[in-house]
Amino acid sequence: MSYVTYDILHGTCVPAPAPVTALTAGSAAQLASHATAPTAMQPAWPVADAHNDLLMLVQHFAADRDYFRRAWLPQLRAGQVGIQVLPVFVDESWLPGLALRQTLALIETALRTVESCADDLALCLEPGDVEQALADGRIAVVLALEGCPAVGPDTDLLRTLSRLGVRMASLTHFGRNFLADGSAEDGTDGRLTRAGVSAVKVMQETGMLVDVSHLSLAGTRHVLDITRAPVLATHSSCRALHEHHRNLPDAELRAIAATGGVVGINFFPAFLSPGPGTIDLVLDHIEHAVGQAGIEHVGLGPDFTKEIASTMYAGSHVMEGIDLAAAVPGLEGPADLPVLAGRLAARGFSPADVAAVLGGNLRRLLNSSIGGGAVPGGGAVPGGGP
Ligand SMILES: [Zn+2]
Repeated sequence: MSYVTYDILHGTCVPAPAPVTALTAGSAAQLASHATAPTAMQPAWPVADAHNDLLMLVQHFAADRDYFRRAWLPQLRAGQVGIQVLPVFVDESWLPGLALRQTLALIETALRTVESCADDLALCLEPGDVEQALADGRIAVVLALEGCPAVGPDTDLLRTLSRLGVRMASLTHFGRNFLADGSAEDGTDGRLTRAGVSAVKVMQETGMLVDVSHLSLAGTRHVLDITRAPVLATHSSCRALHEHHRNLPDAELRAIAATGGVVGINFFPAFLSPGPGTIDLVLDHIEHAVGQAGIEHVGLGPDFTKEIASTMYAGSHVMEGIDLAAAVPGLEGPADLPVLAGRLAARGFSPADVAAVLGGNLRRLLNSSIGGGAVPGGGAVPGGGP
């Protein structure tokens, strides 16, 4: 079977290589010279995934030094994932006292994984790093924090974590911490604490993107009030389609777009609808977000947790009332991501629009906003901080 694929760099259709191991602009042009009739559509390298907690599994299987290469790399390559955000998530069992230790341990896991797969992965720290990784046929890895339990009120520790390679962070998980309330505490109507305001300022000084996924609605609005840089929601869907505190209302979808940011649509069934998840529901959320935020401000934040749940939480994988083992049939891991290209095209998305949602938008944001893209002085954040 031959495939046609969208060349994000040039907005054209070319035959896809199979399997993809390294596709550069040059090789795409080369392949275009022997095009054949398309029989299916697949997205081009690079698909961008704004949220995959796979570091938890890599740490879990730390004794097996080949685990990532064997268990994940083929899935990412099959899914044509060219940009992968790797969040550091600190499980409740480490809180509060051991959060910093576990954060450092997961950062070490990430750095060691990138070093041991240097032919396939590149840690992106500065503007240009994502493009260089893609040009080399490597997967551009961006290190992130999911919640900031390691930091507590000491927001200067975000500078330390930045020095270790972190380029993105969400302020909370579901609950309250020193910086803000998580979305499960929406009832408090709590905005950021003084430390939370300071955290935003420090992050924007050091070239870390602020991620509002998991943050309370009032906290999200506070971030959007004070930000001096694009704001990201790595894995959040649309509240207008399903009333869940983890989803973003329309006004916030538009406000994130106004900062130049991107919303990564979460595929998690509990956030898509009250019933089981389907690919059509994922497409509904993508379409709605595009309608509110615009085609340049929507991406993918799949949040694939099925494997984590079955491996690490077997028998008790319910968190905040959500079954982490649930998944959308046909969209259960990175290798399934290409199915979205044809399905979006069938809903009328142009090739350029498919390419933007599947990877181009997050690529643009990362290229302009990490590391050297820092806001000078972090901006004089209104409302101040300590
Ligand atoms: Zn999450």
